[in-house]
Amino acid sequence: MILCHSTISSFNPCLSKSETGIGKSTMMNTLFNTMFENEEASHYERDVQLRPETYELRESNVNLKLTVVQTVGFGDQINKEDSFKPILDYIDTQFEKYLEEELKIKRSLFNYHDTRIHICLYFIAPNGHSLKSLDLVTMKKLDSKVVNIIPIIAKSDTVNRSELDKLKIKIMSELVSNGVQIYQFPTEDEAVAEINSSMNTHLPFAVVGSVDDVKVGNKLVKARMYPWGSVQVENESHCDFVKLREMLLRVNMEDLREQTHARHYELYRRCKLEEMGFKDTGPDSQSYFALPPLI
Ligand code: GDP
Repeated sequence: MILCHSTISSFNPCLSKSETGIGKSTMMNTLFNTMFENEEASHYERDVQLRPETYELRESNVNLKLTVVQTVGFGDQINKEDSFKPILDYIDTQFEKYLEEELKIKRSLFNYHDTRIHICLYFIAPNGHSLKSLDLVTMKKLDSKVVNIIPIIAKSDTVNRSELDKLKIKIMSELVSNGVQIYQFPTEDEAVAEINSSMNTHLPFAVVGSVDDVKVGNKLVKARMYPWGSVQVENESHCDFVKLREMLLRVNMEDLREQTHARHYELYRRCKLEEMGFKDTGPDSQSYFALPPLI
């Protein structure tokens, strides 16, 4: 799983699911055309660890402060029951920090380094005929209430086209029948309605990652080389990498931020303030805050 947030434009993705070795680091390096520092993780981590790393990048002429959070060791433990908890806690902690800033008498939200998670890229293993129960449980815990989820099938070059098509259909139907709400590319704005509604039908994106430049014809392209040929990362007939990059970094980055603030954070804020004893009341729709009870 990869969680991301960003400032300036900040953008904060989280890469999740995915036992070690599913291709998270390679995908991040491919997406941002950079080499993120990465300590190799073992398959035997005792706990799930959230590793945030912040980088300053330039993407489509925009300076981007990007924090990538990898969920190291997720799915590697023998007992996977509580694997999702550290991820939920991490997401909540970032909301908590923002709320603390918002509640200060002298707040400085305009230059606050916002670490709230804007997107969770949930990596699904390509082998197998459906989602694992751990995937369903985790995505259910994370879904619309907490974070924007985009499911992706990793290492999609390792399965053939017809199996991949079947896997995509199966995953979507399992998500629907289990009530997991993934992020839908918004279709209200006319400017992006067509592309977004078409892209919604391609989910989950089946991606391939590689940072190797390979000569194809007289061009250097990112690809994975095999004895029988190459799988080109940016060739849309080979995989959905370009679709993922376009949707994430060009077309919908602003919406992902907005959804995080207006939907996920608002829900967190409301629950938290109610817990603290704040109330909105008043028959005349005038809202006021009740003071929290004195203990
Ligand atoms: P992580 O532990 O999830 O961060 O996984 P890595 O990115 O370190 O990748 C683990 C291994 O999978 C490496 O040998 C990569 O070269 C390989 N790998 C990464 N992405 C792909 C892919 O799209 N297809 C294939 N076939 N192998 C990949």
